[in-house]
Amino acid sequence: MTIAAIEAGGTKFVCGLLRAGGHAFSPPAVLAKTSVPTTSPEETLHAVAAFFEGQSKIHGRPDVAGIGSFGPVELRPSSPAWGRVTSTPKPGWSGADIAGFFMKSLGVAVAFDTDVNAAAYGEYLWGSARGLKDFVYLTVGTGIGGGVFSGGGLVHGLSHPELGHLRLAREADDPFPGLCPYHKDCLEGLASGPAIEARWGKPGRELPEGHPAWELEARYLARAVAAYACVLSPERVLLGGGVGMRPGLAERVAVLLGEELSGYLPALSDPVRLAAYVARPGLGADAGLFGSAAIAMRMPED
Ligand code: ZN
Repeated sequence: MTIAAIEAGGTKFVCGLLRAGGHAFSPPAVLAKTSVPTTSPEETLHAVAAFFEGQSKIHGRPDVAGIGSFGPVELRPSSPAWGRVTSTPKPGWSGADIAGFFMKSLGVAVAFDTDVNAAAYGEYLWGSARGLKDFVYLTVGTGIGGGVFSGGGLVHGLSHPELGHLRLAREADDPFPGLCPYHKDCLEGLASGPAIEARWGKPGRELPEGHPAWELEARYLARAVAAYACVLSPERVLLGGGVGMRPGLAERVAVLLGEELSGYLPALSDPVRLAAYVARPGLGADAGLFGSAAIAMRMPED
């Protein structure tokens, strides 16, 4: 099976033509891969279609397509707006028909979900959540979002989980107002990459180990993970994204999670269990692309 996989991000679209068929426990082989900057929907979607058009001539046409998209997106199959971006502050993208465009241009069935739900499904098949029925995939980067896998399947419900827009108790000595356009100081407003840059005057990659930024970041993430642990009872929380995968961050979040829970959840009361509870995605930065292929591969069963 040849799969057109698209990780549709707010800053870039990562696209790959992949071939499944090897060992069930390993992700599909990447035949070709590229990345296209996210500009206007018109320009971006056509650039992605042109990539697949060119690669199809070399490797053959895809049989299916999977798209993991930045959101919010409409996921209810009964809605006429299925497959579209809904309300986004991103200029031009409100109402953009991402799934419909690729159904037409590639001429194949399209599986469509949030980028984080797709990444979670990839981690379930091939990554750090293999075999788990309940876990959370959280990405911390330009924004903060999370995919929820519960009872052996992805959670959609009303729309899709919005783990980044959780309101948290603030640290008493934190004067930063937060930058979420909807809530100011939700988790995303306090701890996303742009929030780190706005708070400290430098992007995270320029803040050294030991800078107070990282302890505060770990504290807010631990507080959020404590809320997810209490509400969703995941067996593991994966921390992905450019900020989330920073070396040492997951380990520190696990330690502070213990403090946040104050021994309340017996399953997480010992340091060894805690250390394994917050983990990095096994597919690393490719979780989104492989996850987009994963949701396409499972389509016939749905
Ligand atoms: Zn928010």
